[in-house]
Formats: sequence, structure tokens, C-alpha cells
Amino acid sequence: MTFGIAYSVSMRIAIISDIHGNREALDAALNDISRRGVDFIVCLGDIVGYGPDPGYCIDRVRTTTSNVVLGNHDEAVFLPQRSMEFNHVARAAVQWTVRNLDEDQVSYLKSLPHSLAIQDILFVHSAPGDTGRWPYIFSNFEARMYFSKFRERLAFVGHSHVPGIFAENPSVTDFNGRDRFIINVGSIGQPRDRDKRLSYGILDTVAATYENIRLDYDVRTTASKILENGLPVSLAERLFVGR
Ligand code: ZN
Repeated sequence: MTFGIAYSVSMRIAIISDIHGNREALDAALNDISRRGVDFIVCLGDIVGYGPDPGYCIDRVRTTTSNVVLGNHDEAVFLPQRSMEFNHVARAAVQWTVRNLDEDQVSYLKSLPHSLAIQDILFVHSAPGDTGRWPYIFSNFEARMYFSKFRERLAFVGHSHVPGIFAENPSVTDFNGRDRFIINVGSIGQPRDRDKRLSYGILDTVAATYENIRLDYDVRTTASKILENGLPVSLAERLFVGR
């Protein structure tokens, strides 16, 4: 998916989200990003939860970019009552994650903001205007409720682990440089759109394009580490099918 965007400020931004402690996927994505070349990287949260390398992923994200927002799994690490809303697999993963982070890594998660605005672009984990309910946007219908909650032209979101582009105006089928969009960049560490390849986005305000990038990574290694660490088996299995 590629479409034009009319911007006066020149930026090439990589947007990553939902890494979920998947070291192999994060490393593959960051290598690909550095090969393509960007001005900076934004991370939309859920650095941890589900995967076997939460500490590594926090340290790598922290040294790679200062543009990072909080995700619900990051929050559950320091607000344990939050994980009561999770299913039992996600909750077990949060409890394991808490035991495998040091104090400094937890304080870093605590320091993350709910949203970030750069030029005419908003970055949040779940939905514009949300500060803790963590709603999902899966469809144009759901997306439409959120356009009144932000002023920027574009909003980037993650959370559903399903990449997608939602236009404010239902009759818009092509990008025209005037309309507004909510864009989901998909997930680095646990894709759920039946495509096991990691997913992230590159917005290029010079070339006026947005591209959703899909890339293979070493799923086997991540899956074996999930099993070795005693995390729920389903968390390893789903990585092979992307759901
Ligand atoms: Zn997530």
C-alpha cells in the first residue's frame, strides 16, 4: 500500500509497534530500517509481553529512539491490576515478564507517555484520545469515532497487530493530500493477520508515500526460547501462522 501525502516538512520516519519481547523480529526490523535509511524511528509501545526477550527489547528500543509511547502490556508490568483484564495466557506472560526485568527497565516503561505528536502526526498505542481504556480499531466504522479526538492530519496506531489504513472520509479511496487517515503499522513481534512476517511502516514526507513493510525473521529461534522459558506453548505456535 502506497499513497501520496502532501507535507511541507521533509521527514522519513520508520514506525514500529508491538514488539512483545521478540528479539529476532526486532533485530531484523531494525537492520532493515537502517539499510533503507530513515531520519528517525517511532515506537508505538508494547515492547514487552508474550515474548522471551523483554529486557533485550527494552534496551535496544531505548538506545535506538527517544520517540516511544506506552502500550497496555508495558503498563501491566508496573500496574499489575491491569493484567486482570487480560486472558490467562497474556496474564501468565506479564507475570513472567515482570520477573525477567530489572528495576531500571521497569522505570523506563513507567516513564513512557501515552501519546506523542510530531509535526502533523499523532502517535499512540491503541487509539487517538485514549489514555488507558486501550480500545481496538479494526474497521473504518470503528476508526471514524476517533477522528474527532485528534487534530493532526495523520494518526499512527498499533495494538490490534493487524496493519491497515483508515480514511476519515468514507468516500475516499485514494490518498489526496487533503484527507485524514488513521494508520495501523501492524506488529513486529506477533503479527495477527495470518501473515507470519513482521510488519512495520515507513512514512516518507519527501516522496509523499506510506509503505507497509513485511519481512521474514527467525521465527524458530523465538519460538524455541518461548518454550525453553516455560511461557505458554500457544505463544510459540501462533508465531508460525501469524494469528
Ligand atoms: Zn500488542
